[in-house]
Amino acid sequence: MARPVVAIVGRPNVGKSTIFNRLIGDRLAIVEDKPGITRDRIYGSAEWNGKAFSVIDTGGIEIDGDDMILKSIRMQAELAIEEADVIVFMCDAKAGVTQSDEEVAQILFRSGKPVILSVNKVDNLKRVDDIYEFYSLGFGDPVGISGSHGTGIGDLLDVVVENLPELEDDGYDEDVIRVALIGRPNVGKSSLVNAILGEERVIVSDVAGTTRDAIDTPFEKDGQRYVLIDTAGMRKRGKVYETTEKYSVMRAMRAIERADVVLVLINGEEGIIEQDKHIAGYAYEAGKASLFVVNKWDMVEKEDKTMQQFEKKIRDHFLFMTYAPIVFLSAKTKQRLQKLLPVVKHVADQHSLRVQTHLLNDVISDAIAINPPPTDKGRRLRINYSTQVAVKPPTMVVFVNDPELMHFSYERYLENKIRAAFDFEGTPIRIFTRRKS
Ligand code: GDP
Ligand code: GDP
Repeated sequence: MARPVVAIVGRPNVGKSTIFNRLIGDRLAIVEDKPGITRDRIYGSAEWNGKAFSVIDTGGIEIDGDDMILKSIRMQAELAIEEADVIVFMCDAKAGVTQSDEEVAQILFRSGKPVILSVNKVDNLKRVDDIYEFYSLGFGDPVGISGSHGTGIGDLLDVVVENLPELEDDGYDEDVIRVALIGRPNVGKSSLVNAILGEERVIVSDVAGTTRDAIDTPFEKDGQRYVLIDTAGMRKRGKVYETTEKYSVMRAMRAIERADVVLVLINGEEGIIEQDKHIAGYAYEAGKASLFVVNKWDMVEKEDKTMQQFEKKIRDHFLFMTYAPIVFLSAKTKQRLQKLLPVVKHVADQHSLRVQTHLLNDVISDAIAINPPPTDKGRRLRINYSTQVAVKPPTMVVFVNDPELMHFSYERYLENKIRAAFDFEGTPIRIFTRRKS
């Protein structure tokens, strides 16, 4: 289920990215050890009092080729209004209320979204009085915080969480496969949507009846129901900021959150660029099933090994997603298009696959027998028992004598053995190590 989105808005230098990093904090540690994952981020997950949400740092969204700061801030505020459920409006106690703060306030006023006014850099008691002038912005009680010292962040989070909307279920049955298409502008997302829907024996449902009917497209093929997530948002065009990378990432994130399967589109004609990696990285982090779709294959001059060479390039660039199958096709000529949905269905099945505990333990026992766990300072990792605790993505818990003794490389070895035994093609696998109590 999708998480609510909190956006941090404010002029430059008030401390947005400092607070953003505090909010998403240690959760990054899980993914940052994977090669190829970007660190330059504006979107992350946070949790407070058991409530999970996503955070966007709108300050990271710079408008290309536009050095007018005010114009940039305005656009960021508009973006936040469009995309967020709760807006944290950040100001700077040291600077006091500035004209740009008032500009931002004007825009946020009209949003109709909950706006939480937060005054940063309240580093000491002397500054506490400085927050009163911010009442003039008209958003009620300012929450004083200090990004440097970490004070007040809990109070801010309390207010944020109080204002998070209750998320509605998206209304689709459990067996409907939710599919998101992501990729940089012009890679062919809209063309592929149209091609899929125009395929033989695809029945597009015109029955609305879901909370998201305005932007999703449900359809059925070979007895399997699918829904294409956020296809209308994809078609929306024309605003300046839509061409910026970070904006497209932000758009894609919302669709990824709601999806089971993410199609990562690559332009076969132009090859892989850095932006493709950022986008794919989010699908990996969100724990979604994924596959690569190399589109515009009609434009590629083909020789004997063209496909294998392209495949190798993808494997080299996306080291964190070697489990994702690759489909080459052309949305325009529909060449190889019929190969796509069977793969989508297959990875969706793998994403919700549950393996029996005794089978899992057999595989792990065999793995240990072939390659015994490492020792550290004379102590050897002992694995007692493993069990799958969740699906979507498949999540395993391995009970051991001491989790500290589990090395990343051994965990990867176990993951490879699990994959070799049970497939799990197209889905990330999460492995957690716990001390056996
Ligand atoms: P952004 O442009 O709004 O994202 O702001 P940054 O997070 O980059 O912070 C701008 C500057 O303010 C940096 O030099 C931070 O170290 C500093 N800063 C952030 N939070 C605090 C704070 O609570 N107190 C003080 N004194 N400085 C802070
Ligand atoms: P989006 O921005 O990702 O939604 O991309 P569009 O679907 O709007 O496609 C961008 C451009 O690429 C359009 O001119 C399409 O006609 C073209 N295009 C899309 N798919 C293909 C394809 O498979 N082959 C070729 N040659 N052109 C394509």
